[in-house]
Amino acid sequence: MSRRKKIYEGKAKILYEGPEPGTLVQYFKDDATAYNAEKKATIDGKGVLNNRLSEFFMKGLGQIGVPTHFIKRLNMREQLIRAAEIIPLEVIVRNFAAGSMARRLGMEEGTPLPRPIVEYSYKDDALGDPLVPEEYIVAFGWASQQDLDDIVALALRVNDYLSGVMYGVGIRLVDFKIEVGRIWEGDFMRLIVADEISPDSCRLWDIETGRKLDKDVFRRDLGDLADAYTEVARRLGVMPSNVTHPPTRPTPIN
Ligand code: UDP
Repeated sequence: MSRRKKIYEGKAKILYEGPEPGTLVQYFKDDATAYNAEKKATIDGKGVLNNRLSEFFMKGLGQIGVPTHFIKRLNMREQLIRAAEIIPLEVIVRNFAAGSMARRLGMEEGTPLPRPIVEYSYKDDALGDPLVPEEYIVAFGWASQQDLDDIVALALRVNDYLSGVMYGVGIRLVDFKIEVGRIWEGDFMRLIVADEISPDSCRLWDIETGRKLDKDVFRRDLGDLADAYTEVARRLGVMPSNVTHPPTRPTPIN
C-alpha cells in the first residue's frame, strides 16, 4: 500500500490515489470507533466484511439507477471508486426511532415513525457532527436548496431499496447514514451516493428476535461485532469465502 499516495485517512477507511484521474482506491480498515472516537477497538475481519457489504449495496443501487461512487472491488479490503467532492453532511434517514432521535425526544427505541424522516448533521469531528437544519446548510453554502431537494430524493430511494433488501432477509432497517458527493460530467453536476453503506452506518435489527446486527453491538457492548456483520453478509449471500471470522466450529458428530 505504501506504493500509493494516501489522500485521506478516516476512522474506518483510507483513501489512496487511484490508477486513473478521477478515481480513488478506498481501503476498509478493521478499526471501529464510537462516540466520536472516544471508544476504539480493532475488530478482526470488519474491513473485509464492510468492503463486501458496501459493494453489494452500491452495486444494487447502481442496478436500479441510483448513482454511486462505486466502480469495482479490487481485493478483500479495497474498492475502486469515483472521486467526488463530498458535501460536508451526514444524511440520516430514519424509519423507526433509535439512537440520538430517541434520546432527544424521549421516545422508546423501535417506535415506528409516521413517515421516513431525513435529517442532517454537519460533518465536523471536533464539534461532534452537530444536527443542523436545512436553513444552516443553504445559508452557509454547504449545499443549495436544489441540492437538498435532490439529496432527499436520493436518500429516500436508498431507503426504499435498503429497506426492501433487508426485509427480504428478515432484517428491519431502523435508520442509516449516507454521504453524498458531487461529480461533474462536463458542465453538468450530479449528486451521487459516496462513502460506504455497511452495518457501521445503519441500524439493522432482526425482525423476529430484535437482535442488533450493526455497530450498536460495539457501541453498547452487546457481543461480537464481527459475528453480527457476518450474519448480515451470510443472509445476503455475500459472505466472503476466506474470512476467518467467526472461528470455524467443529462439526458435531451425530
Ligand atoms: N451514523 C453514522 N455515523 C455517524 C452518526 C450516525 O453512520 O457519525 C448512523 C448510525 O449508525 C445510525 C444513524 O446514522 O444508523 C443515526 O444515528 P444517530 O443519530 O441515532 O446516532 P447515535 O448518536 O445514536 O450514534
